Amino acid sequence: MNGCSDNPAYQNVLLHSLYYDNPLAIAVIDRFGRFLDINRDPYDMFGYSREELAGQPFSDLLDELSYDMTMQVFERTLAGEKCSQEIRVLHKDGHPLDLNIDTVPLMRRKKTIGIVVFFQDISERKRTMEKIRFMAYFDDMTGLPNRRYFTERLEDKLAGADKWDGQLAVCYLGVDQFKLVNASYGKDIGDMLLMMIAERLTGFFPETGNLARMEGDEFAGLLEDVRDQEDLSGRMDELMRLFEKPFELAGVHLHISVSVGISITQGAGDDAIGLLKKADTALHRVKENGKNDYLLFSSDIAHTALHKLTLQHEIKKALQNQEFLLYYQPQYDLASGRIVGVEALVRWKHPERGLVPPGEFIPAAEESGLIVPLGEWVLQEACRQNKSWQDAGMTPIPVSVNLSFRQFAQRNLIGKIADILQKTKLDPRYLELEITESITMDVERASRFLQELADLGVGISIDDFGTGYSSFHYLRNFPIGSLKIDRSFVRDIQQDPSDAAIVSAIIAMAHNLQLQVIAEGVETEEQVKFLRHHRCDEMQGYFGSPPLPRERMKELLLSESVLPMNH
Ligand code: C2E
Ligand code: MG
Ligand code: MG
Repeated sequence: MNGCSDNPAYQNVLLHSLYYDNPLAIAVIDRFGRFLDINRDPYDMFGYSREELAGQPFSDLLDELSYDMTMQVFERTLAGEKCSQEIRVLHKDGHPLDLNIDTVPLMRRKKTIGIVVFFQDISERKRTMEKIRFMAYFDDMTGLPNRRYFTERLEDKLAGADKWDGQLAVCYLGVDQFKLVNASYGKDIGDMLLMMIAERLTGFFPETGNLARMEGDEFAGLLEDVRDQEDLSGRMDELMRLFEKPFELAGVHLHISVSVGISITQGAGDDAIGLLKKADTALHRVKENGKNDYLLFSSDIAHTALHKLTLQHEIKKALQNQEFLLYYQPQYDLASGRIVGVEALVRWKHPERGLVPPGEFIPAAEESGLIVPLGEWVLQEACRQNKSWQDAGMTPIPVSVNLSFRQFAQRNLIGKIADILQKTKLDPRYLELEITESITMDVERASRFLQELADLGVGISIDDFGTGYSSFHYLRNFPIGSLKIDRSFVRDIQQDPSDAAIVSAIIAMAHNLQLQVIAEGVETEEQVKFLRHHRCDEMQGYFGSPPLPRERMKELLLSESVLPMNH
């Protein structure tokens, strides 16, 4: 090897090859920064011919921002250093080129006579990096910053929090009923709407980075220099007013509202994730409360929200661990005093809290959808129990099961009920479903569902009658067997003449429509008297019996006891 490298002819060949065949562009410049030579046609890279470049100062190519930096690199190289630097030059046609340059001093007889510059065009790599950065930090549909960008920027703002006076407010915005828009008009219109909303919001949060699309139909906005609550509500009112004007989409005018949850900086210890979480929690509360409003986070909200989440988790576990059971409350015929039916009422045998009444977990089960499996279990268990009483020789009576609105909304409920009846071998006439008036709001669906139920042979009653959505229309048109007068009316029939009038009117109207009437929550003999006097058909309440566990209910049924009545 040594022999070879000592050979001047060989060295020449090697140098020639290294210079002219090098994949990198190599330029030689003199001590004054002027081009002396370049190893390839510079036209391809810079748009200048070799002749045009010869003798030109390298600095003529430089982008203004790279000028100082490059001059320093050249100085250091002339002083004997090897340097590496990213710079930007301009192509002859004006477009920028990002280059990485490596420089080495060109020596002759121990004197630096110039610089050798190795160029690498990194424009493509830079563009890819930019694209990756864009994808990582921006939402490609609206072009707005995304969650990552917003969070990092908020983090930066909080770090510099001592530099300004006012507070920061984080707004978490959700578009109300967005799913409905998507479902009714299609995804394209949905996307268009989001873009238009982004545009309106940009007008409100004009500074880049103060508005972001977090996900789906959720946006986040940052308000700076918030002076106090009054200032904040003034600005939020203004934000809500942005949505007063309808959106016009493909010829359709849509009135769209937003819900906003807000959190505000408290001082040291604030962090971006925490503020966003609080604002999100407040947003959920607004949505639960009927949407189209804004709400500032407070710790009460966090408590109830947390409680609800734990509760939902617990209900799920309780279903798996079979912690639910049914109590039964008898319904008495007011004329004979005999038990003519029972209502199944769910209880939760909680390992720590004991027996939990349904009011404490049904709403959470409804909200999470867990009411569907829970309701199915109740139905199945009530049917099984009723059949087993019949098999034990007791007089057959119907069992009433409460059906929640959420169960009604599920598809194939009829199929499930039919399955359960078949599996438990209970004759359909011994099952009665209690629905609430809210079900009848969707008239078409309700009438189809109720007709199918009636065709199955299952009875239907309206629970808590008088408290809900009052349309008497459905009473006439739906196949309903009975009404249960809500206990709030029954409670005060002795004291409140208007309640007494309501109860007697309901009884008369029901009879007119050939419906049975059951009074709920009957606790006193006076109430029983009043009800009998007005020819109410049945009663249910503590006066007869409270809800009982199944063994106690069996004993009561076996005893064939009747309602105590002194005419
Ligand atoms: P509801 O269907 O109107 O049930 C009657 C409620 O009144 C029961 O409360 C019962 O214990 C109570 N009650 C009975 N007699 C009297 C009385 O004389 N005075 C008073 N003050 N109250 C009386 P409970 O068992 O706590 O159930 C409350 C509600 O929970 C039920 O109201 C029903 O809407 C719902 N629920 C109960 N079980 C189920 C179920 O399995 N599924 C669904 N979806 N809801 C259920
Ligand atoms: Mg009921
Ligand atoms: Mg009721």
